[in-house]
Amino acid sequence: MRYDIEADWLWQFACNYRCGYCFIDPQALGSKVPPLGTPAEWQDGFRRTGRTWLLHITGGEPTVHPDFVEICRLLAQDHYLSLNSNLSHRSIEAFAEAVDPARVHFINAALHHDERQARGGLDAFVERVRLLKARGFPVLVTQVADTALLPRFDDLVQRMAAEGLVVFPKALRGSHQGRIYPQAYTDAERQQIRRLARAAREAAPELAHHLGEAPSINVFEEERRLEVVDYSGRRCGAGPRFVQINAQAQVLRCGSPVSFGNLLRGPVTLPKDERRCRTSYCPYFCDKYSVAPAVPAGRVGAGA
Ligand code: SF4
Ligand code: SF4
Repeated sequence: MRYDIEADWLWQFACNYRCGYCFIDPQALGSKVPPLGTPAEWQDGFRRTGRTWLLHITGGEPTVHPDFVEICRLLAQDHYLSLNSNLSHRSIEAFAEAVDPARVHFINAALHHDERQARGGLDAFVERVRLLKARGFPVLVTQVADTALLPRFDDLVQRMAAEGLVVFPKALRGSHQGRIYPQAYTDAERQQIRRLARAAREAAPELAHHLGEAPSINVFEEERRLEVVDYSGRRCGAGPRFVQINAQAQVLRCGSPVSFGNLLRGPVTLPKDERRCRTSYCPYFCDKYSVAPAVPAGRVGAGA
């Protein structure tokens, strides 16, 4: 992939699932998908920036958007995509037909086991992962390491392995049932998540090779998500090399309200210079775009 800038693109908050650990307000999950821009208008909006984008499409559930397939098809002509999806909507099958897999870096296929079981089981999910893989899309099957599920997680891994799928754990983040994660994980839960992450990596070595560049949602290093890192003060590419696009098509510097313009209403003026971090955002992107402080020479190899 050769791209100039990456965006974490929050299409909309609507979703057909109601996972207990979801950080989106249930009212927003149940909201109507906002009619914002035709596929051609989105294509023009990105073309006007003069950049090649890596667009990480997320939500809510992006596949419930009525123009999901056509927007992706048009944008993949000029840019690269990655996708977060629960694969529960049949539009993912049309996506697999319409979009060039060579333009899709990865699909984070989020299992959401308990919610899916309550809605008819795992069969359709397994079939859609197989379909996507058969078409050449790199698929990362992930499952949130919900504390209610952890006692059953190993069993889930085995059942999915029997279907030929490797499940990567994703650490909980933020507030869940009155506790703040990942801080609230017990030592035993942390050990289990580390073990599950290591086992998933070892079970799917070809995936990292296939992807080339590490996925932005880097579940290959999920152990890092068990720690809380303070990124403030770090030099970071947020702005010139990474932005958030919100549900109103505004282009923002990661978690800050600084707007560089609107893709549908234009113009978008991206900054040239990197700055130091003064806000907070998703740690996957913080890790990718910020420069970690140098470790003092005496500390190297000292062991923690
Ligand atoms: S599928 Fe994702 S967006 Fe939808 S309820 Fe579950 S966690 Fe939230
Ligand atoms: S480290 Fe994270 S929060 Fe800070 S500027 Fe970079 S992307 Fe934004």
